[in-house]
Amino acid sequence: TPPTTGQVVDTFTHFFQERGHRLITGSTLLPPPGDPVLFTTSGMHPLTPYLEGRPHPLGRRLVNVQRCLRTTDLDEVGDGTHLTVFQMLGSWSLGDYGGPQSLRWGYELLHEGFGIPRDRLHVTVFGGDGQVGVDGESLDTWHELGLPVELTGGDENWWSNGPTGPCGPDSEIFVWTGDCPPRGTPTTDPRWVEVWNHVMMRHRRHEDGNLTPLVQRNIDTGMGLERLVTVLQGVDSVYGTDLFEPWLRLVPPLWDLGDQESLRVVCDHLRSFTVIHGDGVRPSHTGRGYVPRRLIRRTLTTLWQDDPGRTLGDLPRELVEHIQTHFGLPVEPGPVLDVLRDEEHRFRRLLDRGRKVLSRYGGRQLTPEDYHYLHDTHGLPEELVDGIVREG
Ligand code: ATP
Ligand code: MG
Ligand code: MG
Ligand code: MG
Repeated sequence: TPPTTGQVVDTFTHFFQERGHRLITGSTLLPPPGDPVLFTTSGMHPLTPYLEGRPHPLGRRLVNVQRCLRTTDLDEVGDGTHLTVFQMLGSWSLGDYGGPQSLRWGYELLHEGFGIPRDRLHVTVFGGDGQVGVDGESLDTWHELGLPVELTGGDENWWSNGPTGPCGPDSEIFVWTGDCPPRGTPTTDPRWVEVWNHVMMRHRRHEDGNLTPLVQRNIDTGMGLERLVTVLQGVDSVYGTDLFEPWLRLVPPLWDLGDQESLRVVCDHLRSFTVIHGDGVRPSHTGRGYVPRRLIRRTLTTLWQDDPGRTLGDLPRELVEHIQTHFGLPVEPGPVLDVLRDEEHRFRRLLDRGRKVLSRYGGRQLTPEDYHYLHDTHGLPEELVDGIVREG
């Protein structure tokens, strides 16, 4: 029988603990002070100071599970592999062992630990650019292990957390998810799904674009938990895993969403909203708070396509409780539903106002100046205006 999500997490953390890694608690979605981004987007994020050389109190080998939020993936939600909030299984070498060791353990865990057949694995390796040469160490390691390798160009296998800061070449491990025997390569066939990224984090990018070596050579790996579970449970998307079982059991009877993509968007967004709420962020009109607001508005836009009478107040309490258990977050159904109802009310009022204002434009093409005016004077964001225009 396939492993549950809980068993997958345990297998991962034990594997690295047996190899000298200390388990650290995952942080909230809010990055440490001074970090330029609004939310934690990867497991390395809260560890930046230690990757830069500050000694970590628990030593040079760490392992954890870190929740992440990527608003940059919003438009990909609805496919089988991209969520806005997901959990990243991470392992680190802070100036300790190097890339080849990390890749060998990666292969050992996936193949021997989780039983993924060798012929379902494919990897990619940094092929070099003008500044840094091909990642020969990783290439040699994969050749020794006998896995097929694709060398990529440009920044395809270059990891960075932003325009400046720690970065380096990476090597990604893909698993074949097709029904037929594997074919093609990760960049030519989307049935190769990326599960694990190993980053050889040894450079710092400066404002002027130049790279200098970090004080220590680190390894930073991140594996998407929901994706790994998808592969191990043999289902065709993250929504088919045990993690989404309550969602797919409770949402369709409540809201009969015509197409699969709408159902996925609604489940993803409400799930992410609840996690963000659990980390203490409330909807607002700017900055961090605009993310949960946007998630709710996208949900409502989807829900109201077929039936404007649908209300978030109907969200089953069990779904909030499931987040509470799974993420270990202090979210109570009552307050979550209160915020959802309040946001829904605001959005209805804003839409009513928007429809009124837009009716004065007689359906003509809107100019950039119109959008500015609608935003600044009437508080109508472009996304919302476009939504109303599409309603016709
Ligand atoms: P992709 O190319 O599929 O968008 P990525 O290269 O952007 O993934 P990384 O930044 O390398 O992802 O993150 C490490 C791992 O986190 C990935 O290998 C994947 O398993 C997982 N992951 C990344 N983005 C998502 C997401 N939006 N939802 C779920 N898991 C994700
Ligand atoms: Mg991505
Ligand atoms: Mg990728
Ligand atoms: Mg990647």
